[in-house]
Amino acid sequence: MPVELRLTAFFSAPVDSEALSKFWLKVDKRGPTQDHMDTRCWSWTGASNADGYGRFYYKGRDWLAHRLSFLLATGKEPKTVLHKCNNPACVRPSHLQGGDTKDNLLDLLIDRIYTDRDVA
Ligand SMILES: [Zn+2]
Repeated sequence: MPVELRLTAFFSAPVDSEALSKFWLKVDKRGPTQDHMDTRCWSWTGASNADGYGRFYYKGRDWLAHRLSFLLATGKEPKTVLHKCNNPACVRPSHLQGGDTKDNLLDLLIDRIYTDRDVA
C-alpha cells in the first residue's frame, strides 16, 4: 500500500488515546544530552530490540518507538527515521529526521568526516 494511503488509513481510524498515554508513560524526558545536541534526549524506558531501539504495540502493529513518535509529531512515515543525536533509545521528535537510505548514508559520511576532524 502506498505511504499516502497507509497514512490516510492511520489517521482516519480513531486515535487510541489510552495506548498513546501508555506510550508517553514509557518516555523519560530527562535523558542524556549528547555532546553535539543542545537539548536532552527523551529516553525510551519500555521494551526495546537488540539494537537498542524502543518497541511499542500500537493499532495492531509492532512499532519502533522513535518511528511512531516521528509519525505522531509530523504525520509522516518515511522509509527511515534517523537519530540526529545518535541515541537509538531517543524518541524526542526534534532529535529525529526522516529520510531515505541515501540521506542516511550521507549523514553517516558527514558524521564520520566531522568525527575525524575532531580527532585531528
Ligand atoms: Zn536524542
